[in-house]
Amino acid sequence: MSSEVNSENNSCLKADFYQELMAIVDEAAVLASCSALLGWDEQTFMPPEGAVHRSNQLALLAGLHHEKSTNPRIGELLDAVEDSRIIHDQASPEAANVRELRRLYNRQTRLPRTLVEALARATSLAQQVWVSSRASADFASFRPHLETIIRLKREEASCLMHALEDSKSSHIPQSPFVSVYDPLLDDYEPGARNAALVTLFEGLRKDLVPLAAEISEAVRRHANGKSFRGHQDRTESPHSVLTREYPIDRQRVFVEMVAAAVGFDFRRGRLDVTAHPFCTGVGPGDIRITTRYDVRQFSDAFFGVLHEVGHGLYEQGLDPDRFGTPLGDAVSLGVHESQSRLWENAVGRSKAFWTYWFPLARQVFPQALHDVTLDQFHAAVNHVVPSLIRVQADEVTYNLHILIRFELERALLTGDLPVADLPSAWNAKYRETLGVVPSNDAEGCLQDIHWSAGLFGYFPTYTLGNLYAAQLFARADADLGGLDLAFARGEFAGLLGWLRENVHRHGKRYSPSALIERATATPLDHRPFIESLRRKYGELYGI
Ligand code: ZN
Repeated sequence: MSSEVNSENNSCLKADFYQELMAIVDEAAVLASCSALLGWDEQTFMPPEGAVHRSNQLALLAGLHHEKSTNPRIGELLDAVEDSRIIHDQASPEAANVRELRRLYNRQTRLPRTLVEALARATSLAQQVWVSSRASADFASFRPHLETIIRLKREEASCLMHALEDSKSSHIPQSPFVSVYDPLLDDYEPGARNAALVTLFEGLRKDLVPLAAEISEAVRRHANGKSFRGHQDRTESPHSVLTREYPIDRQRVFVEMVAAAVGFDFRRGRLDVTAHPFCTGVGPGDIRITTRYDVRQFSDAFFGVLHEVGHGLYEQGLDPDRFGTPLGDAVSLGVHESQSRLWENAVGRSKAFWTYWFPLARQVFPQALHDVTLDQFHAAVNHVVPSLIRVQADEVTYNLHILIRFELERALLTGDLPVADLPSAWNAKYRETLGVVPSNDAEGCLQDIHWSAGLFGYFPTYTLGNLYAAQLFARADADLGGLDLAFARGEFAGLLGWLRENVHRHGKRYSPSALIERATATPLDHRPFIESLRRKYGELYGI
């Protein structure tokens, strides 16, 4: 047999290996999608008495999924295809799929079963304790649980530190893990590294801290009626128009109309009610978003839905033919969050958006809005005030909450900050960064569920999302020749088409940073975000 025939046979065999690999991951993805549907149902329609059986169903599926996705055959198949011609072209879909599957497989198989189980037990218990510790603002009762979790997360990081080196395909570039934070961060934002984030976030902090102070001072002056253009006669604070009465059935109709208008396809998705809103992609053609309504809070449901719609549009824009493979999956938490923030903030809080929608809102909510002008409403939805609680924070100060958590969680992991000192360190950072101090730990370091769930390295993806969003929006605006005119006419298809083309359809083909750089022709930079705030608040308050 000639060597040519040999190598041809070899290539066919490698192609078979690749197909076998895809078939295994497709089955794992179908299992995961069954869990997603059960999880969605648990939080929307399941009767309370179904909880025990539901947890049995989910546990069984989780076990089957783990078995599938850690099947040693995956390792053999990856070894076989990694040095083959199938992935010779690094930009090919095959190469991207193999690269991502190797990353995931190494992560999953590097962690000893004892550690995985210890983490599951510790975080499950810690989350229960966290609920009662937060309710009674009692950090002391939560402290030993957090100490255990941090010890286990350090162990997890050290198991993963060399995971990337297992790959035979050294030609697939991955930067090494250097800091204990790197492997944890990489789980949520593939390719992101501690050192680069420190530099990026320092630049952001330098510009954002003084700007946030300047904007909140302008908002305060306006609220006092001293310097706002025109409506000093209002006795009600400008922001409070959003807490008038907004009948829930009308909120639902209005927000569904807006969701459909910006492009959420209700034939391929649903919007339902839950206690803690989320978006879940069950599979191609089935994307579920959720919200909650409060008759006295217009913003909660409205911007909550726009946020989830952003996540949902991303899921609806993934390539259905690639379902189950990395190419058909969202690239990272940060990029996912960029899509939700983009629709919620860059679109939904813009003057142009409300130029079209405010007259309709006045028809739907005549009682609440009959005496409110477009300018007043636009200012109200862009209200800024430094606050203690992250999830209630406005677009301007939100990232400051994240910068604080980013610094603290890194210090906790390295041991520079003992857990016992967390409350005082937290309070000092809030005073220094936002000028506010929690009166107890419930509104301080106990407010977020993340650390009790073992989610270290997760927080920075919120800020990355905001920065990606601003950079993508600025580029789309430039490419499409100004989006304001389209928004003011109620047209959003141009922007959605741009996002489909430049972000959604790629799945995990590129790393998050490469995706952003490719879409915007510039590396990630905090300045488009700062510029977007300067532009908006300059127009609102002349700063
Ligand atoms: Zn989100």
